[in-house]
Order: sequence, then structure tokens, then C-alpha cells
Amino acid sequence: MRKKIVVGNWKMNKTVAEAGELASAILEQLGDGIVGCEVGIAPAFPALTEVGKVIERSDIRLVAQNCHYEDDGAYTGEVSVRMLESLRCACVIIGHSERRQYFGETDHTVNLKVRKALAEGMQVIMCVGETLEEREGGVTDRIVTGQVREGLKEVSDLGGVVLAYEPVWAIGTGKTATPEQAEEVHASIRATIIDMYGELTAGHLRIQYGGSVKPSNAAELFAMPNIDGGLIGGASLKADDFVAIVRAAG
Ligand code: PEP
Repeated sequence: MRKKIVVGNWKMNKTVAEAGELASAILEQLGDGIVGCEVGIAPAFPALTEVGKVIERSDIRLVAQNCHYEDDGAYTGEVSVRMLESLRCACVIIGHSERRQYFGETDHTVNLKVRKALAEGMQVIMCVGETLEEREGGVTDRIVTGQVREGLKEVSDLGGVVLAYEPVWAIGTGKTATPEQAEEVHASIRATIIDMYGELTAGHLRIQYGGSVKPSNAAELFAMPNIDGGLIGGASLKADDFVAIVRAAG
């Protein structure tokens, strides 16, 4: 039985003070009621320290939204995995579609980042997903399977990996994939993992769904056999909504 994992991706929202307040509100509302589910929050880099302090004594994990694949050097504006570790980040989101769309990330750079994070012992949430054009062109499976294979190239151990299937057309648009649409892709991702790593590893791998998850649709998505939680954008910016989604998974 896979433990569900729900992570809030706050993207480029909240000042340091606002992020601290949101983390406190989430913590207060969750109390110690997160036993059935792993929970993480991913504030923007400047707020990692503050949010880390707020959740220090809780089971909520501190997650980063991105990292670089080198340890240090002349990479203005970038943050290394070791820097994230020094802030007690336990996990990093890699290859989010907004990173691919606006910042030129490719399957190759995603793969470099995944390998670096895993080598440093950090958990990885690797995002994959098709655009609307690709879905309408009937190539969803080929695109998503390709992203999975390329992103995990030369990764021998999936112990620290969570995958997130996020159809690009459903992110921040209010359009959610139906549970059946999402399940179909999740099942296909798991079949790819069986092919790459075998049944046992694939059976343990968690695959989150992301794309306009809300309190009203979370339970039906999380009830699908291959959906192991959610990566939550907009709804994670409201403590009530995020906590309701966590409860739907727990
Ligand atoms: C995301 O950015 O990972 C996401 C799923 O966003 P939203 O929930 O707002 O669609």
C-alpha cells in the first residue's frame, strides 16, 4: 500500500512574512491529523528559512521548487541542492511545466537535476505532462512516457523519487482532468516504470496528480488506483483548501 503524498507548490507567491503566516495556519489546522498521508509545502526560495522554522517540529516536509545540477559556480540566480539541504529542505520539485515552458528546461536538464538531487540524498518530485495541443493530437502517451524515460535516464534507484503527472492544460486553468483521464495516464506511467525497473519498484513508486485539484474534486481523484496524492498549486495558497485536500488523501 503506497502512502499518499500531497505537496503545496506556492510558486512565486507570498512574501516571507505572508509565507510564515500561511505555514502557521496550515500547521494549526492540520494539528497532528496527517498520519495517513505525507505532506509537504514548497514556498519560494526566500521564504524557505521562515517556513522551515514554522514547520520544524511537525511532520510537514519543506520542499523547494527547483534546484541547479551543479554544486556551485558561476550560475547567477541559481540555487544548488547543497544550499537547499543547508536550509533543511527534504525534497525538491524538478521539471515543473512552468520551468519547462518559461525557463527552457528540457528532459536533459531535468535528468541532470534529478540525478544531482538523488546523489545528495534529497527526495525528488519529477513533473511530467502533455500540452493541450499534444493531447488533442493524440500523443499524450508518447510525450509523457518520453519525459519519464528521459528524466530518469541513468537513475538506478527510484527510492527517492515521486512522479507528478500534471497535464499542462489543467494547471492553473480550472480545468481538471477527469479521474478517468488522469488514471489512464497514471496507469501508463506505471507500465513504463514496470518496463524500466520491474513490478516491485513500480508498485512502490508514488505518482501524484496535479492540475486544478480542489477540495471538491480531490477525493475522487485520489480514489483512483494509480493516483497517489497531489501536487497542488492555487488551492495550496489557502490554508482551508489545502488542509481539506490533505484530508481527502489521508
Ligand atoms: C501546479 O502548479 O503544480 C499546479 C498543479 O497548479 P494548480 O493546482 O493551480 O493547477
